[in-house]
Amino acid sequence: MDWYCENIIQGNLDVNKVYESDTVVAFWHTKPFWECHIVAVPRKHIISMASLELDDVDVITEIMVLMSKLAKEFENKYVGCHIGTNVGSHQSTKYLHWYIYAGERIREG
Ligand SMILES: [Zn+2]
Repeated sequence: MDWYCENIIQGNLDVNKVYESDTVVAFWHTKPFWECHIVAVPRKHIISMASLELDDVDVITEIMVLMSKLAKEFENKYVGCHIGTNVGSHQSTKYLHWYIYAGERIREG
Protein backbone atom coordinates (compact mmCIF):
# COMPACT_ATOMS: atom_id res chain seq x y z
CA MET A 1 0.00 0.00 0.00
CA ASP A 2 1.24 3.49 -0.78
CA TRP A 3 2.13 6.15 1.79
CA TYR A 4 -0.98 8.30 1.27
CA CYS A 5 -3.50 5.47 1.45
CA GLU A 6 -1.85 3.97 4.51
CA ASN A 7 -1.08 7.11 6.49
CA ILE A 8 -3.53 9.77 5.40
CA ILE A 9 -6.62 8.02 4.02
CA GLN A 10 -6.61 5.17 6.56
CA GLY A 11 -5.41 7.56 9.24
CA ASN A 12 -2.43 5.58 10.54
CA LEU A 13 -0.36 8.73 10.88
CA ASP A 14 -1.46 11.53 13.18
CA VAL A 15 -1.19 14.57 10.90
CA ASN A 16 -2.23 18.15 11.48
CA LYS A 17 -5.24 18.52 9.17
CA VAL A 18 -6.30 21.86 7.77
CA TYR A 19 -9.29 20.54 5.82
CA GLU A 20 -11.29 17.32 5.62
CA SER A 21 -14.38 16.26 3.72
CA ASP A 22 -15.83 13.04 2.31
CA THR A 23 -13.58 13.41 -0.73
CA VAL A 24 -10.54 15.53 0.17
CA VAL A 25 -7.98 15.74 3.00
CA ALA A 26 -5.44 18.54 3.44
CA PHE A 27 -2.72 18.60 6.08
CA TRP A 28 0.51 20.29 7.05
CA HIS A 29 3.41 18.53 5.33
CA THR A 30 4.95 16.03 7.74
CA LYS A 31 8.51 16.89 6.63
CA PRO A 32 8.10 20.41 5.23
CA PHE A 33 10.60 21.96 2.84
CA TRP A 34 9.08 25.40 3.34
CA GLU A 35 7.89 27.42 6.31
CA CYS A 36 4.30 27.02 5.21
CA HIS A 37 3.78 23.75 3.34
CA ILE A 38 0.37 22.12 3.00
CA VAL A 39 -0.56 19.01 0.99
CA ALA A 40 -4.05 18.15 -0.33
CA VAL A 41 -5.09 14.71 -1.57
CA PRO A 42 -8.31 13.13 -2.80
CA ARG A 43 -9.56 10.18 -0.73
CA LYS A 44 -9.90 8.29 -4.00
CA HIS A 45 -6.61 6.84 -5.18
CA ILE A 46 -5.85 8.83 -8.33
CA ILE A 47 -2.34 8.37 -9.66
CA SER A 48 -1.70 11.85 -11.04
CA MET A 49 -3.09 14.69 -13.16
CA ALA A 50 -2.16 12.50 -16.12
CA SER A 51 -4.68 9.83 -15.12
CA LEU A 52 -7.79 11.90 -14.42
CA GLU A 53 -11.18 10.66 -15.51
CA LEU A 54 -14.34 12.67 -16.04
CA ASP A 55 -15.66 11.34 -12.71
CA ASP A 56 -12.77 13.08 -10.96
CA VAL A 57 -13.85 16.60 -11.91
CA ASP A 58 -15.71 17.25 -8.63
CA VAL A 59 -12.80 16.25 -6.44
CA ILE A 60 -10.37 18.38 -8.46
CA THR A 61 -12.74 21.32 -8.20
CA GLU A 62 -12.91 20.87 -4.43
CA ILE A 63 -9.11 20.82 -4.19
CA MET A 64 -8.86 23.96 -6.33
CA VAL A 65 -11.40 25.84 -4.19
CA LEU A 66 -9.41 24.82 -1.11
CA MET A 67 -6.16 25.93 -2.77
CA SER A 68 -7.75 29.27 -3.58
CA LYS A 69 -8.64 29.85 0.09
CA LEU A 70 -5.16 28.83 1.22
CA ALA A 71 -3.56 30.97 -1.50
CA LYS A 72 -5.41 34.01 -0.22
CA GLU A 73 -4.13 33.36 3.32
CA PHE A 74 -0.60 32.70 2.10
CA GLU A 75 -0.62 35.79 -0.08
CA ASN A 76 -1.67 37.93 2.85
CA LYS A 77 1.01 36.46 5.09
CA TYR A 78 3.91 35.90 2.66
CA VAL A 79 3.12 38.14 -0.35
CA GLY A 80 2.98 35.10 -2.63
CA CYS A 81 3.09 31.32 -2.80
CA HIS A 82 3.56 28.32 -5.07
CA ILE A 83 0.87 25.77 -5.94
CA GLY A 84 1.59 22.59 -7.85
CA THR A 85 1.39 18.89 -8.39
CA ASN A 86 3.89 16.39 -9.80
CA VAL A 87 3.50 13.77 -12.52
CA GLY A 88 5.43 10.63 -13.46
CA SER A 89 9.12 10.55 -12.55
CA HIS A 90 8.64 13.81 -10.61
CA GLN A 91 6.35 11.96 -8.18
CA SER A 92 7.96 10.15 -5.27
CA THR A 93 4.59 8.52 -4.50
CA LYS A 94 2.20 7.65 -7.30
CA TYR A 95 -0.78 9.30 -5.68
CA LEU A 96 -2.20 12.62 -6.82
CA HIS A 97 -1.26 15.30 -4.33
CA TRP A 98 -1.36 19.05 -4.68
CA TYR A 99 0.92 21.21 -2.60
CA ILE A 100 0.99 24.85 -1.66
CA TYR A 101 3.95 26.48 -0.02
CA ALA A 102 5.29 29.88 0.99
CA GLY A 103 7.96 31.47 3.13
CA GLU A 104 11.58 30.50 3.58
CA ARG A 105 12.98 27.15 2.50
CA ILE A 106 13.76 25.23 5.68
CA ARG A 107 15.03 21.89 4.34
CA GLU A 108 16.85 20.57 1.29
CA GLY A 109 15.86 17.37 -0.46
ZN1 LIG B 1 -3.34 4.04 -2.73
